[in-house]
Parts: sequence; C-alpha cells; structure tokens
Amino acid sequence: MQLITRHIRDIPDFPKPGILFKDLTPLLGNHEALSFACRELVRPFRDAGITAVLGMEARGFVFGALAAHELKVGFVPLRKPGKLPAATDSVRYDLEYGSAELHMHVDAIGPDDTVLLVDDLIATGGTAAASLELARRAGARIAGCAFVVELDFLAGRDALGETRIHSLVHY
Ligand code: AMP
Repeated sequence: MQLITRHIRDIPDFPKPGILFKDLTPLLGNHEALSFACRELVRPFRDAGITAVLGMEARGFVFGALAAHELKVGFVPLRKPGKLPAATDSVRYDLEYGSAELHMHVDAIGPDDTVLLVDDLIATGGTAAASLELARRAGARIAGCAFVVELDFLAGRDALGETRIHSLVHY
C-alpha cells in the first residue's frame, strides 16, 4: 500500500479552513500506482457477481470507471443536480463541508443488479450513505463499497450499517 500512500498528498485548509484535504491527483498521474489501486479496490469483489459499479461525482468517476473496467461490467455515474439528462431519483445529504444532492438515472440499475459503490475517499459517510439509498430504492443488491482512502476519525463506516466496506488506506 506504500505505492498508494506515496502518491497521496495532504493539502491543509482546502477547500475550507480546518479541512486536511487528501489530494489523490498524484495517484491519478502515476500509471503503476493507479492500476494497482484499481485492482486492489475490486479484489474482494471479483466473485461477488457484480453487474454494475456506481461512482460518485467527481473523483468517484475515475476510480469507479476503472473498477468497472477491471470487473468487466458497466459504470453508473451518480451526479450533482442538473447534470444527468434523463429522469432521475435523488437524495439530499450532509458533507464534511456543506451539503449536497446526488442523482441517478432511474433506468440505470434495477432488481437484477448487484452493485459495487466506488469513491476516492470516505469521510463522514454521507455521500456513500446517499448512494446506497439510491441503489436500494432502485431494488439493486449491494455487494459493498470500495474506497481508496478512509478517514477513520470521522467514523464514516458507521453511517453505512452492515454494508461491506473495503478501504485501501486508513488515516
Ligand atoms: P463524506 O460524504 O463526508 O464521506 O465525503 C466524501 C466525499 O467528499 C468524497 O467524494 C471525497 O472526495 C470528498 N472528501 C471529503 N473529505 C475529504 C478530505 N478530507 N480530503 C479529500 N476529499 C474529501
């Protein structure tokens, strides 16, 4: 995992004073570290019968799409309001900094799907909990969530109930 941690840098006071932002752009910029991270993200879920990977805007798009490619399944984007062109379902939720709303196309997944949620980082767990809610409402089975980084001190996994959570590095 040092290959991953070496490519994560701390940016203090971004986007607000008091937030220590984990910047994963160096990881995105390194092919060896990025492909290792994506293989590790999906490793526990290779035999879980995943039919779709859900990724949250915006950094979840990168890791989610690469995870979907690893699993040879499709990718479903969960987006901020006003971005998805067709009919959507939506959930409002609180962030570590501010509040937000996530949308998913209503025809993206259904009861025949088993989904994996992927994001770059879990902080308070609000984003992931909202994403799980969208998947549940669509009737999909949830295999678990995968994150590159988990901020343990914010106890985000407590917001996700019994859901299987796989995080590559913890701070
Ligand atoms: P949360 O809903 O609190 O779990 O926040 C998770 C989302 O916010 C993820 O999509 C992250 O990209 C972003 N995020 C929250 N806190 C941080 C942080 N300290 N460093 C980097 N990204 C963060």
